[in-house]
Amino acid sequence: MKKISVDSLVRANVKSLSPYSTARDEAGESFEIYLDANENPYNNSYNRYPDPAQKVLKNEISIRKGVPVNSIFVGNGSDEPIDILYRVFCRPGTDNVVAVAPTYGMYKVAAGVNDVSYREVYLNSDFSLDVVKTLSATDSCTKLLFICSPNNPTGNRFVISDILDLAEAFSGILVVDEAYIDFASGESMLDYLDKFNNIVILQTLSKAFGLAGLRVGLAFSSEKIVSYMNKVKYPYNVNVESQRIAVECVKRGVDEQVGEIVRERERLSKELNEIECVRRVWPSEANFLLVQFDSPLDVYEQMLSMGIVVRNRSSVPLCEGSLRITVGTPAENSKVIEFLKSYKGGLK
Ligand SMILES: *Cc1c(COP(=O)(O)O)cnc(C)c1O
Repeated sequence: MKKISVDSLVRANVKSLSPYSTARDEAGESFEIYLDANENPYNNSYNRYPDPAQKVLKNEISIRKGVPVNSIFVGNGSDEPIDILYRVFCRPGTDNVVAVAPTYGMYKVAAGVNDVSYREVYLNSDFSLDVVKTLSATDSCTKLLFICSPNNPTGNRFVISDILDLAEAFSGILVVDEAYIDFASGESMLDYLDKFNNIVILQTLSKAFGLAGLRVGLAFSSEKIVSYMNKVKYPYNVNVESQRIAVECVKRGVDEQVGEIVRERERLSKELNEIECVRRVWPSEANFLLVQFDSPLDVYEQMLSMGIVVRNRSSVPLCEGSLRITVGTPAENSKVIEFLKSYKGGLK
């Protein structure tokens, strides 16, 4: 497999950075008295700075995912590694990124913030990937190529061999966002991490692990890319409480809940398919369904008035007429089904 020169893609200012080093990093392990960081000495559980290297958490993630600790980056949600990848690789005003469309909105937001031009390549109408079209949108200034699989908001997973073809042919960094991978059948790109030095895989504790409120995102990549990302991050980017709870949660696992959500997704999908106002339910490998309606705006508004909020994607190209519905608890899903069964169409 191909190895690219990562150093030559990194911005010159980042290449010459040395990461902020804390006094504790330099001194090493455990001491009796900590007078190095100007903290308040009285213990209230939060008077000490968090571990900037998140060692305990990375150990647990390493065990669970089978990835070496030095290939793991932990961020303040996945939004942080997304932004950091721009800052490591993309020269503002000069470089560009390519992403499939429709997809997750943060890649574009981060492009705007970093003054990097954002090129969208539409998926095929069945939401499959057009490898040739995607590659032909790249040029020598394309540093990042974003693929989200399973994709938000379409719900489908892309064929692994297509993703591998992109990794093989692209001479920049391929970012594969697997935020929903725990709900999917089939393999993760993590299995290919050691075959390519130009891929970054994003995962998160926000969805399957149920920790959206704690903001813990993960990136897996080569040691070299992870070390560049560490140079750019804030030293204390993941707080004490988030690290502590994330460790417990990763240790415990969430297989039971994920199994329940997947079963509910299948039930919801089957039931929605039989409802008159529903035009189509797209297959999903995530924890949401993209559902096309005859009158999506009216359904959306009536659901709101019933106290149910879903995501209106009806004006997104390729998702015309569709609402994105997250799989909730069995009781919540039953309410959605009940409402749609009784839906009689509105005035519009
Ligand atoms: C929800 C989601 C994330 C998670 O973002 P966090 O910042 O980790 O909460 C990442 N990528 C995609 C595609 C998502 O839909």
